[in-house]
Amino acid sequence: MTATETIDTLIHGRWVIPVEPAQQVLEHHAIAVADGRIVAICPSAEATARFSARQVVNRDRHALIPGLINTHTHAAMTMMRGFADDRPLMEWLQQHIWPAEKRWVSPAFVRDGTLLAAAEMLRGGVTCFADMYFFPDDVAQAAASAHIRAVVGMIVIDFPSAYASDADDYLRKGLAMHDAWRGHSLVRTALAPHAPYTVSDAALARIVTYSNELNVPVHMHVHETETEVREASQRHGMRPLERLERLGLLTPQLMAVHMTQLTAGEIDRVSANGANVLHCPESNLKLASGFCPVARLQAAGVNVALGTDGAASNNDLDMIGEMRTAALLAKGVAGDATAVPAAIALQMATLNGARALGLEAKLGSLVAGKAADIIAIDLSAVGTQPVFDPVSTIVYASGRDQVTDVWVGGRDVVSDRKLTTLDVADITQRAAHWRDRLGNLGP
Ligand SMILES: [Zn+2]
Repeated sequence: MTATETIDTLIHGRWVIPVEPAQQVLEHHAIAVADGRIVAICPSAEATARFSARQVVNRDRHALIPGLINTHTHAAMTMMRGFADDRPLMEWLQQHIWPAEKRWVSPAFVRDGTLLAAAEMLRGGVTCFADMYFFPDDVAQAAASAHIRAVVGMIVIDFPSAYASDADDYLRKGLAMHDAWRGHSLVRTALAPHAPYTVSDAALARIVTYSNELNVPVHMHVHETETEVREASQRHGMRPLERLERLGLLTPQLMAVHMTQLTAGEIDRVSANGANVLHCPESNLKLASGFCPVARLQAAGVNVALGTDGAASNNDLDMIGEMRTAALLAKGVAGDATAVPAAIALQMATLNGARALGLEAKLGSLVAGKAADIIAIDLSAVGTQPVFDPVSTIVYASGRDQVTDVWVGGRDVVSDRKLTTLDVADITQRAAHWRDRLGNLGP
């Protein structure tokens, strides 16, 4: 008899879908976890003989997949869910969102909103999110206390807010936040210039320098609408993407959000420079922003990841729903039913997200050595029967309420559908408090 290896957790699944290698679906396999990392994935019987686990979790009706990565959020805006719906982007921003933010955004608003977002995301299988919002230090604190991974944006925008006065002030505060969280196990940072139309050339040039010096990604809304591209072309004599390329921003560090307006030449430039596209299909649909040419980008070899955007323009942070929308919309836009098949949608929500964030060595797939960011989805519900192909079932038929367990770095943050790190009653009470304030029902 061989000696057993002692580990922390052994998770048995009806299916294990590692995402890497692509297209692989393992049946009756188990994931061995120790010190926050995946040690091995092997058949359940073999795992039981090989490992002595402190905790054994049997999920025999479930698919185990990598934690979902939401690459574009404004988490605190979850407090503005349903606040100003059914309006065009610029009217929505200028007449509703920006004035409300000017009046109400504070460290407490950001902390409460980010905790609400973290609760929603963890409960729906999201284990990592990339954020862009004011008071990023409070975003980082909320994420760390919820035990969810976050790539927190050092936001830069040319106009003043309660958080900072001008681009230099935003950068100074962002860099201080970066220093404060350096080396944290869950929190990373990115530079987050809001958009080409809200950040000057001078600030963008500094951002290029800092991105290179600190080796952090640049998270930015780019080519969200046709109007944005037309007005910028008149102002600068070139389209925003060309301006970003001239400033040195079109690199593998760029996380370009939306990208609904792209010429064939621009798709070639994005591909040649290795930039990442963060596709937010439900936000684009809700704000009628246009359609990201996902199938054409993927055919050109561009890494396309998925994000929900803020809950004020979605209106949820549901990455399982976002996968389905992405798969369906890509087919409609391409006029091709083979565009973005289920396995690619799952890859966009996991491994491609990790790539966009520069974290693919650590996150995005179930591979020995990577972090144990794992979710279990119960596929036994009537709405997901029968199961021919669990990947197809997850993307096209399942809902986030079927997520039963979530581990981040090996720690169970959702256990049998219950959040273990967050006080839902308290978070809900705070949401009601902010709703009353934003709705002008109280001071
Ligand atoms: Zn956004």
